[in-house]
Amino acid sequence: MEATEKDILRGGQFLVKETKCEDVFTPEDFSEEQKMMKEAVMEFNDREIIPHKPRFEAKDFALTEEVMRKAGELGFLGVAVPEAYGGLGMGFVSTCLTCDYISSGTGSFSTAFGAHTGIGTMPITLYGTEEQKQKYVPKLATGEWFGAYCLTEPGAGSDANSGKTTAELSADGKTYKINGQKMWISNAGFCSLMIVFARIEDDKNITGFIVENDAANGITMGEEEHKLGIRASSTRQVFFNDTVVPVENMLAGRGEGFKIAMNALNVGRIKLAAACLDSQRRILSIAVNYANERKQFKTPIADFGAIKTKLAEMAASAYAGESATYRAAKNIEDRIALREAAGNSHQEAELKGVEEYAIECSILKVAVSEDVQNCADEGIQIFGGMGFSEETPMESAWRDARIARIYEGTNEINRMLSVGMLVKKAMKGHVDLLGPAQAVQEELMGIPSFDTPDYSELFSEEKEMIKKLKKTFLMVAGGAVQKYGPQLEDHQQLLIAAADILIEIYMAESAILRTEKNVKRYGEDAQSAQIAMAKLYLYHAVDIVEEKGKESIISFAEGDEQRMMLMGLKRFTKYVNYPDIVDLRIEIAEKVKAENKYCF
Ligand SMILES: Cc1cc2nc3c(=O)[nH]c(=O)nc-3n(C[C@H](O)[C@H](O)[C@H](O)COP(=O)(O)OP(=O)(O)OC[C@H]3O[C@@H](n4cnc5c(N)ncnc54)[C@H](O)[C@@H]3O)c2cc1C
Repeated sequence: MEATEKDILRGGQFLVKETKCEDVFTPEDFSEEQKMMKEAVMEFNDREIIPHKPRFEAKDFALTEEVMRKAGELGFLGVAVPEAYGGLGMGFVSTCLTCDYISSGTGSFSTAFGAHTGIGTMPITLYGTEEQKQKYVPKLATGEWFGAYCLTEPGAGSDANSGKTTAELSADGKTYKINGQKMWISNAGFCSLMIVFARIEDDKNITGFIVENDAANGITMGEEEHKLGIRASSTRQVFFNDTVVPVENMLAGRGEGFKIAMNALNVGRIKLAAACLDSQRRILSIAVNYANERKQFKTPIADFGAIKTKLAEMAASAYAGESATYRAAKNIEDRIALREAAGNSHQEAELKGVEEYAIECSILKVAVSEDVQNCADEGIQIFGGMGFSEETPMESAWRDARIARIYEGTNEINRMLSVGMLVKKAMKGHVDLLGPAQAVQEELMGIPSFDTPDYSELFSEEKEMIKKLKKTFLMVAGGAVQKYGPQLEDHQQLLIAAADILIEIYMAESAILRTEKNVKRYGEDAQSAQIAMAKLYLYHAVDIVEEKGKESIISFAEGDEQRMMLMGLKRFTKYVNYPDIVDLRIEIAEKVKAENKYCF
């Protein structure tokens, strides 16, 4: 069924509007076409990537390029590219699904794939002129050419708009000459095309250019970087020395580069979250397989409560990650469709559709990149000494996972961005935070209800808890905005604490809504482990919200106000019936053990 404007929340609105479970998309809603895509990508991963893992770990860069080319031949590089430019023109959910299931074999390929299809191609599909798209996108969509994205410089990392690379217009006005140094450039070693950001004269903002890779045109590469993980992903410095670029290769307009860079990253962030999902599933499947086999004290280690805890927590975080990623992906897809129906070009619609959910993209990037790292860490622990050995896949999974917290904007930057963007949206009137924040303040001053609610219906208490966590965010962020106004951005610890609250709300709510939807379809018995995972995830979320809320309130409020807010926090983070998380973990672990894999 086509979604209508009223069914789809705007970006960030999840915080102030209740979402019905029928209105969230879940992995169980994949269409036949999406299921076929998933199968095809999984089969590719099983055939072309996983068996060659040792070669990737031995820095076989040529193999990465070869597998990328094969992915191109099968159309996987063009999933998101419109058919008019040689792609498959599939929707945003299919794009995320491809990133998800192609990425678990090795972070080396996953990074090459993500850099090429995301930041290497998207700037042209989103901002290119018709001529630029006709000329370059079909080559990128099929893997005839590979793309790279040159934003970072030695002195310009998180502060991406501060780059020193210059672009100087020639006297005849026909070309720009680019000079400068870029670093940490993924795919540099085998790319044919680069999206390069440079500054024209003293412009406030950088400008984007499409630059063909040609050694004869003043482009040289540094040696391959020796990295902790993603070892066969090509990462080099790129030097531009009087590189001549025709004026028609400028992307969008002069000074538009920073906007392009940021929007390309928005798309990249949700895709990166997707790209961490199947790694989590695989890690858990391999870990439970080992735990079922490995015996100590004459007992399979999977039977020990200590190991069950790990299996259950790994499963719950992967489940929440899937739930939130596909929920947001479908919101983006629907928003794009709505904008197209309203007369926007596909290009405009896609740009605005993704921009709308930039908050969710940042939330997902942070949450899932940290979950996959934790998952790999526990994977090593389940393998014991063998986990520390290069002979088992846990060691490389752990090393590969680490980069996801750094690129596409570090997790610190993304945490601050998520809250910063939300406050900006509220100020522009796009999301009404003020009204709900005032209502929370009034509630704090009123007399709490002492009625005992009826929580017998499935998830009624959990859904009430989510509402209370949202109130906590409004109380904390609202209080901080009131106290510091525009200077809030100087209070990074507060912003980061608020972001942690925001992240937990989105992830926990997504897991609950997915499960509620599936219970209605498949019944409670069939979903009992999923119910347990949603409850377990929420329990931890509540703890984090309480901790982060407390430190925030103490830092910006004093005296009676502080006391009132801390009492509010206590009320908003209190269960009437605490879930027995020991039992929940056992239920989840038993299911995973019995199936011998991640099975949700
Ligand atoms: C393997 C790899 C591949 C990469 N691929 C690409 C690519 O293809 N193209 C590309 O352009 N770039 C790429 N990058 C670069 C990557 O995007 C940057 O490393 C990242 O944005 C961080 O920049 P930085 O390394 O300069 O760290 P810095 O910006 O120096 O940050 C260092 C630390 O300070 C923190 N910090 C920085 N500023 C602030 C602030 N204002 N407030 C609070 N904390 C702050 C950061 O969060 C971080 O913890 C890649 C990097 C790696 C390692």
